Amino acid sequence: MAKPLTDSEKRKQISVRGLAGLGDVAEVRKSFNRHLHFTLVKDRNVATPRDYFFALAHTVRDHLVGRWIRTQQHYYERDPKLGLDLEELEEIEEDAGLGNGGLGRLAACFLDSMATLGLAAYGYGIRYEFGIFNQKIVNGWQVEEADDWLRYGNPWEKARPEYMLPVHFYGRVEHTPDGVKWLDTQVVLAMPYDTPVPGYKNNTVNTMRLWSAKAPNDFKLQDFNVGDYIEAVLDRNLAENISRVLYPNDNFFEGKELRLKQEYFVVAATLQDIIRRFKSSKFGCRDPVRTCFETFPDKVAIQLNDTHPALSIPELMRILVDVEKVDWDKAWEITKKTCAYTNHTVLPEALERWPVSMFEKLLPRHLEIIYAINQRHLDHVAALFPGDVDRLRRMSVIEEGDCKRINMAHLCVIGSHAVNGVARIHSEIVKQSVFKDFYELEPEKFQNKTNGITPRRWLLLCNPGLADTIVEKIGEEFLTDLSQLKKLLPLVNDEAFIRDVAKVKQENKLKFSAFLEKEYKVKINPSSMFDVHVKRIHEYKRQLLNCLHVITLYNRIKRDPAKAFVPRTVMIGGKAAPGYHMAKLIIKLVTSIGDVVNHDPVVGDRLKVIFLENYRVSLAEKVIPAADLSQQISTAGTEASGTGNMKFMLNGALTIGTMDGANVEMAEEAGAENLFIFGLRVEDVEALDRKGYNAREYYDCLPELKQAVDQISSGFFSPKEPDCFKDVVNMLMHHDRFKVFADYEAYVQCQAQVDQLYRNPKGWTKKVIRNIACSGKFSSDRTITEYAREIWGVEPSDLQIPPPNIPRD
Ligand SMILES: *Cc1c(COP(=O)(O)O)cnc(C)c1O
Repeated sequence: MAKPLTDSEKRKQISVRGLAGLGDVAEVRKSFNRHLHFTLVKDRNVATPRDYFFALAHTVRDHLVGRWIRTQQHYYERDPKLGLDLEELEEIEEDAGLGNGGLGRLAACFLDSMATLGLAAYGYGIRYEFGIFNQKIVNGWQVEEADDWLRYGNPWEKARPEYMLPVHFYGRVEHTPDGVKWLDTQVVLAMPYDTPVPGYKNNTVNTMRLWSAKAPNDFKLQDFNVGDYIEAVLDRNLAENISRVLYPNDNFFEGKELRLKQEYFVVAATLQDIIRRFKSSKFGCRDPVRTCFETFPDKVAIQLNDTHPALSIPELMRILVDVEKVDWDKAWEITKKTCAYTNHTVLPEALERWPVSMFEKLLPRHLEIIYAINQRHLDHVAALFPGDVDRLRRMSVIEEGDCKRINMAHLCVIGSHAVNGVARIHSEIVKQSVFKDFYELEPEKFQNKTNGITPRRWLLLCNPGLADTIVEKIGEEFLTDLSQLKKLLPLVNDEAFIRDVAKVKQENKLKFSAFLEKEYKVKINPSSMFDVHVKRIHEYKRQLLNCLHVITLYNRIKRDPAKAFVPRTVMIGGKAAPGYHMAKLIIKLVTSIGDVVNHDPVVGDRLKVIFLENYRVSLAEKVIPAADLSQQISTAGTEASGTGNMKFMLNGALTIGTMDGANVEMAEEAGAENLFIFGLRVEDVEALDRKGYNAREYYDCLPELKQAVDQISSGFFSPKEPDCFKDVVNMLMHHDRFKVFADYEAYVQCQAQVDQLYRNPKGWTKKVIRNIACSGKFSSDRTITEYAREIWGVEPSDLQIPPPNIPRD
C-alpha cells in the first residue's frame, strides 16, 4: 500500500491534478516555457519565482480563453518533472483587495456560484489602482500602507480599450421642445478590464468587468480659457483619480464628492454597456431608429449590491426618457422591473444620505429626475394616507433640514421590484424598522435571501485535507450541492472518521503555527485551543467583549496559578477604517493586552493573545481551516448576516455567538445545542433600550468585570501611557451603543462551557462533524438559486458548454 500523503503533498497533488486538467502535461510544459520565453522574456537561469507565477498564470489563462470566448458566444496526474512548487507560486499572487469586508467578498462568492450554475451574469465594479490598504502594526498601533497591487501587472485581466465609454459630470440642464438636454459636461472615459470567472467543471467562463478612469485626450484643452498645455496634461490626473483608491470604510457613510463620482462612474459605464449589449441582441427589435425597450426587463436584471449603485435607477430613467424618448410612466415601469435592491445594514451611520447641493453641482439632471420620482411617489402615498403629513416626511427620498439630503435607500426601495435582506432575522428587522412604512405600502416587495459562501474557495481550495476526508466518505458531488454534507450525519459516531477530522484540524493548526513563526516570529502552542475573532474592527462587532474575556481569563490564572486551565491562543485580526478613532484604539488595546499576557511567566503557554496583522482573504484562507472556536459576538440586531461565521462552520470550528445575523439560521440547522449561543436576543436589546441601558449597574455588581475595566483604565496594560485607553473606558461606561457589559456575564459563562467541551476531544469533534454536516444551507449556490428564481426570473442550468477546439500555433 502506498504511503499516506502529507497534507502538503495532498495539496500539491490537488494542484497538479488541476494542472493536469489543463490538458496533456507535455503541452502544459510547452505553453509554460513559451510564456516564460516570449511573455516574460526570461530563461530558466534568470527567472524569479514571480516570473514562474506569471508564466503559470498565463498558461492557465490560455486554457480559460477558449472556454471564455465560447461561453460568451453561447450567450448569445502528476508530473513532478515540471519542477514547480505550486504553493510557493500561489503566495506570489496579490490579493485583489477591491472591497472592504463581507460585502465585496459576498459578490465574489456570487460570481463563482453564477458561473457554476451556468447563469449568463456579469459582475461590474471599479478597477481601483489601490485596493484596501495594507495594515502594519507599529508599537501596537495600526499604520496604513498603500496597496500597490498592480505594480507587477495583473495576469488575469484583459484591457478592452475598444469598449471604452464616456461618462459625463457637472454641466447644466436645458428643457427644450424636443426633450431635456444635459449640456456643457466634463467627460471622463471608462476603460473596461475583463477578468474571466470560471464555473466549477462546467466549461463556463463568465466575465467580471471593472472600469478604470481615463482622461480624454482633449481633457482641459477644449477649454479656450486654458492655454497652458503642460498644466492641462498634468490635470488629467484629476479625471483619473476617480478610480485611484478604494474608500476604506466598512459600514460607514462618508459623504465625499470623489466617492459620489466613483458611484456614478461605475453606474454610467455599466448601464451603457448593458444597453449596448441589449441593442445588439435579437431582442432589441433592431428597429433602425428606435429600440423597443418593452422586453428589456425580461432580458436584463440589475441587482444592486447595497445602495452604492443606487444611481442606476435615475440613470436608467435618464437614458430611457431623455435619450431613448420613452415616455416617463413606461420608463418607470421598465426601471422598476429591471432593478432589485439588497440591503446590507440597518446601522444609521452606514446609510448613504447625499447632500442635495452635491448633486446640484455634479449630477444636475439626476437631481431633477430624483425629484420627479419622489413627487409621484409622495402623491401616491398621500392619496392612500390622506392627511398623514408625518408619513410623507418619513417616506420622502428628500430629507429636509439644515442640509437637504437624498436618502439612497428610499430611492432603491421605490425604484426596485424586489428588496431583500441577507439573513432571516435581518430581513424581518428591515420590515419592522428602516423600511417599516415602505413595507406597509408594498409588503409583496420584501424578501429574504440568506447569504452564502462558495464551497470551492472556502473548503476545497483552502482546506484540501478536510475536503479529501469528506470526499472519501460521500464522494465529490457535495462540492456543487452542499446539502449533501447531510450524508455525514450518520458518521458522527464513526470512530475512524472522528479521528480523521480531528487529525486534519491538528495538521492545519500545525501548519498555521509554522506560518506565524516564519512570517511574524511568534511562537504559539499548537495544542492549545485556537480561539479566532477575525473581521473588520467595529464597535458593533464587539472585539471589546472578547478583550474583557481575555483579561478575565488572565486574572483567573493569576489568582489561582496552580489550577488546571484549558490552554488558549486567542487570535484577533481585522482592519480599522483609518478615520475610526475607537477602532484604532481597540487594536492598540488588543496588542497591549498581548504585551502583558504573553510575557507573564505565571501564565506560560496557557494563554496567548495574538493580533493577526493585515487580515485579508489570503490570510482568512489560512487561519479559518486552523480555528477551533469562531467568535461571532455582535450585539443582537446589528450584524445583518455575516459570512465569516459560515466559513468557520464549514471548516470545522465551533461557534460562540449571539442570536444575530445568520448565526440564528446556523443554530437552527445544526441545533442550538451544537453551538455556544449566549446573550441578549433582539427583543431583550429592545426591552433594555426602553428601560435604559446603564453600564454602571453591571460594573458595580460583577467583580471580575469591574477588575478588568479598572485595569484598562488604570494603565495596567499601558504602563508607559496610563491614559491611553480612557476613551475606550469612557465609551463603555457612558455611551456604549452596543451594550458590551450587558452580555459580559453570559459570555464568560458560555466560554467556560467551551473550555469544558474542549477537555473532551472526542465530544468536541462530534459537535464539529454535526456542524459541518449541517452547513449545506450556507452555500452561495443555494443563495444564487433563490435570487435567480425569486428575483431575476431565470433558472440555473447544469448544461455543460462543450469544451473549445483550441487553435494550435
Ligand atoms: C469573509 C470575510 C469578511 C467578512 O467577515 P464577517 O465576519 O462576516 O464580518 C471580512 N474580511 C475578509 C477578508 C473575509 O474573508
